[in-house]
Amino acid sequence: SSIYIMKSLWSDVESDKFKDDLALRVYTSRLLGQDPSLVLHGGGNTSVKITETNLVGSKEDILYVKGSGWDLVSIEKDGFSPVRMAHILNLSKLKSLSDPQMVNELKTQLTNATSPTPSVETILHAILPFKYVDHTHADAVVTISNTVNGEERIREIYGNRVVIVPYVMPGFDLAKEVGRLFSEMASEETEGMVLLNHGIFSFGNTARESYERMIGLVNAAEQYLVSQNAWDNEKPLIDVKSKKIRGDVSELRQKISLVAGNPVLLNLTNSLSGISFSKRDDVEKIATRGPLTPDHVIRTKRIPMIGRDVEKYVKDYVSYFDIHKTNAKEKKTMLDPAPRVILDREFGLCAVGKNMSEIGIISDIYEHTIESILRAEKLGGFQALPASDIFDIEYWDLEQAKLLRNNNFLEFQGEVVLITGAASGIGKSCVQSFLNRGAAVVGIDIDSSIETNYKHNNYLGLICDVTDEEAVEELLEKSVCHFGGLDMIVLNAGIFPEGRQVSELSTIEWNKVFSINLNSNLNLLREVYPLLKVAPNKGRVVVIGSKNVLAPGPGAAAYSASKAALNQLMRVLSMEWSSDGIRLNALHPNGVFDTNIWTDEVLISRAEHYGLTVENYKTNNLLGVEVNSTDVSELAAELCSSLFSKTTAAQIPIDGGNERVI
Ligand code: ZN
Repeated sequence: SSIYIMKSLWSDVESDKFKDDLALRVYTSRLLGQDPSLVLHGGGNTSVKITETNLVGSKEDILYVKGSGWDLVSIEKDGFSPVRMAHILNLSKLKSLSDPQMVNELKTQLTNATSPTPSVETILHAILPFKYVDHTHADAVVTISNTVNGEERIREIYGNRVVIVPYVMPGFDLAKEVGRLFSEMASEETEGMVLLNHGIFSFGNTARESYERMIGLVNAAEQYLVSQNAWDNEKPLIDVKSKKIRGDVSELRQKISLVAGNPVLLNLTNSLSGISFSKRDDVEKIATRGPLTPDHVIRTKRIPMIGRDVEKYVKDYVSYFDIHKTNAKEKKTMLDPAPRVILDREFGLCAVGKNMSEIGIISDIYEHTIESILRAEKLGGFQALPASDIFDIEYWDLEQAKLLRNNNFLEFQGEVVLITGAASGIGKSCVQSFLNRGAAVVGIDIDSSIETNYKHNNYLGLICDVTDEEAVEELLEKSVCHFGGLDMIVLNAGIFPEGRQVSELSTIEWNKVFSINLNSNLNLLREVYPLLKVAPNKGRVVVIGSKNVLAPGPGAAAYSASKAALNQLMRVLSMEWSSDGIRLNALHPNGVFDTNIWTDEVLISRAEHYGLTVENYKTNNLLGVEVNSTDVSELAAELCSSLFSKTTAAQIPIDGGNERVI
């Protein structure tokens, strides 16, 4: 069987590169961070106590503890906040200390004013009488702890190796409780502490000792799961979707966005274990008991939505809020009641978020949750903390403040745009302009570089021939399953054939130009209509037209006529789709020379043709300015923004001013 048992990653060669106590703290923190079954996305924290001489020559004990905003996997020395020990130890003797007071005290005791905010578990780290302290939310430990006889099992596994601490919300009260239990229970044999329903601590006098104790303790929990036949979960079934689901997915996303109060992305993770789990007959029973560790709730909400009944989920969430806010110390305002995790028989495990980084975190957390729930079920049943404890974390001011800090709002956050011809020129530039505004971007092109042009979480590049109707359908299915829907489309793909007089123009060439520049767009627009109709902020279409629509030139009949027809299509649709709130607008660029068509040779030959230098040729317009693809893409993005929310069927030249257009 594929039994994975945790082992130490310590390497003498590697650790030699980390010279001092803090550097070694960095080294073993990263070792912990490397294993997602120990530490997932910013969870867990570590510390080291170091005696230093300050500027005025006095010796001080300093606690270097993980600062907020840092992830153990990539932490640096700067990620540890240096806090004066003496003051923290005095604080720990107080009877009570509120969260805001505690945060204030910790910040004012930093020896470096530019350090990040110290962890809310700082006092706890300080009172443990060991140089190094490591804390994780190890899957195996929280799995066992989250069962009906969790505490007994933990005792059975560890004996005197750990002090067991019943659940208390992180912060001052937890530190007090740990201090009390530690002084009562700790012995020579103590290597760590298990915080029930939360995680595990280890400690030691060297970085290696503390780290290897963590590995040893977690290893013991894993061995226990193996011995109880609770380690290997059933192999998930392979699932093949035969039905088209993009319509259903985008309608679900619309409903969730309405509840969330802003557009959100919805990702079908396609995880096989997620699909198998969602199809279980008892999924509702076992998946709605609560999170693995309270640390997850801020990302995932207390429970996932089972199926697609958004109204019911919201109703339940509102009553959960109403019941528990009455017990809360401070007045709380309800967070948006939208689900973050969905388990649906057909869609499998889905994650909801404002961007794909957030969605990645949510789906990782839930994948681990599924494994743990299944294992806990084999140990007599998964049992999470009561909803009231989860509520306290979900509505914890400190956690919410953290989320607010990370929330710099972008205009197209949670929205999706499809851009055709996106591998180069104006299309490629559009990808960047929309990414900059927070949109998720589907870039399509016949050129295979489309897949790798951008390394961005919010980008999906797909090879597609826009004239191939089947390929377009497949592409829409894929994009909607990835991002949840479609809000905007930029019709940019097109060809500009060699100059030819009409007397020489074959029907074949004419048809080819029309099939790419016009017919493919008709197909695309017809197919995206049902998606744009359910866009939470209303659908938007930008047509990249051409100066030739308004001022055609000799030798460009097929091109000019196809672009003019596309323009007319845009105008008709602006009337047909107005009742759905869908806006369509066109840009007519001219002389955009930083694209693939305009090689140096072509530029030189065109300039010579007009008796101009290349420089003058490029700025041969009324304003005497050069028009770049970025100018066009920025305007294309703005056309989709709220600035133009009351404009449809507009045609805007972007050509530096052209007398024939005027
Ligand atoms: Zn923790």
